[in-house]
Amino acid sequence: MPKIRTRFAPSPTGYLHVGGLRSALYNYLFAKKNNGDFILRLEDTDQKRYVEGALESLIKSLEWAGLDYDEGIYLEGGKTVQKGNFGPYMQSERLEIYRKCAKQLISEGKAYYCFCAPERLEKMRADQATQKQAPMYDRYCLENLSPEEINQKLKEKCPATIRLKVERGINIEFNDLVRGRVSFQSDLIDDQVLIKSDGFPTYHLASVVDDHLMEITHIIRGEEWLSSTPKHILLYKAFGWTPPSFAHLPLLLSTERKKLSKRDGDVSVEDYIKKGYLKGAIINFVALLGWTPGKGETQEIFSLNELVGKFDLKNVNKAGAVFDIQKLNWINSQYIKKLSIDELYELSLPFFPSPSIPLPRGGEDEINFWKKVLTVEQDRLVNLSGVGESHEFFFEDIDYDKELLRWKEMTDDNLKNNLEKSKNILENITDADWTREILEKKLLEAAGEKRGDFLWPLRVALTGEKKSPPPHEVAWVLGKKESLARINKAILILK
Ligand code: GLU
Repeated sequence: MPKIRTRFAPSPTGYLHVGGLRSALYNYLFAKKNNGDFILRLEDTDQKRYVEGALESLIKSLEWAGLDYDEGIYLEGGKTVQKGNFGPYMQSERLEIYRKCAKQLISEGKAYYCFCAPERLEKMRADQATQKQAPMYDRYCLENLSPEEINQKLKEKCPATIRLKVERGINIEFNDLVRGRVSFQSDLIDDQVLIKSDGFPTYHLASVVDDHLMEITHIIRGEEWLSSTPKHILLYKAFGWTPPSFAHLPLLLSTERKKLSKRDGDVSVEDYIKKGYLKGAIINFVALLGWTPGKGETQEIFSLNELVGKFDLKNVNKAGAVFDIQKLNWINSQYIKKLSIDELYELSLPFFPSPSIPLPRGGEDEINFWKKVLTVEQDRLVNLSGVGESHEFFFEDIDYDKELLRWKEMTDDNLKNNLEKSKNILENITDADWTREILEKKLLEAAGEKRGDFLWPLRVALTGEKKSPPPHEVAWVLGKKESLARINKAILILK
């Protein structure tokens, strides 16, 4: 058995998209599960679609995700370097290889030069469209040019493409590891361009040549490439090479079951990082977009290592995978719950809201303040950008209608007395005793049977909100001074 080798072969057209991350992840998981190699190759032969900085950003995203590859392109000191025995790994540095391969096919009569001007091809396609025919090159150059004419045109440097001479009337079949047997009629396949008139290869030629020369054993990619596969198989056949195995991953769908697009919200991995989704959660979620751990398995939370252990192409679905943000939110909240407060603090640093009231500033006090906020919020947090979102009272002056202080039918006197009582209790708790446990104990003791009468006014005095965490948690975060100031303010409002 040859060593398993997979590749992620993005084009440098922008940020890493969720679908791209899934392809990279499945290629990584499959390679690692089988002690194989995972390779990063750049498909940068379409100069028009090149986006500056896209390669660097792709590499950083893969690094961030922990999808370590064994060969390919790396960033070192801000510069790209290539490592591995099958390089170069940038297709733009392999142009000679593609040209040589294409010429070999010409010399064997399996490909031919085409000198048709773009205008002629356009007209041909328009005529075919009006006659409701599939757009196909009419083989004008193959059938009408003599070898002398071809040589003459090449000598005159007439713009030329090289096309594959697709064998007519055959059935192209292959066994897709996700979809099973797939077949295509060669009569519906155009004599595809292999080398463009600018001398660059097309995706089809470059990827087939590279997958072969780089000894890729399994091609795992999105379903949108399925219709390219028969073309690739024809190319393998023309070269006399054995095709690798193919696995086409299901389409990503929106919750409306349409193909996922920018219109459905964020599709780039960076957007999710910026919103405070955790790495483990994003990978966990993306792994489940089309893959399930197998029959009867109910586990939904997996580390990258666990995924390596469990991944199997047999358990990748054919049906489209719905990108459900609610599921990502749930997975993310599970990951947040598992963090220690110190970890949560470090990860949340970029997301802290800017307060409009004086908070402890600088050093341990400030760190402790934020850690307290996070302790109260941890179990309810969906993503890190939500820190403080529903608890503005921690960072802002509060304003509320005095009637909100009243629990049910309690009288003004009762209300005032209970706030005074809270104030006394809190005043008598020392700074050293200002812990959640002690605050809770003392307040519950004082509340006795009538919890609502006692705790509701205090909670509103501290938060100004109908809903919030319980008063002992809020007082713990706010600290003694601010808590007492807020209770005093409530007592004044009632006067
Ligand atoms: N360069 C293609 C892309 O941008 C790669 C497709 C493939 O994996 O063959 O996704």
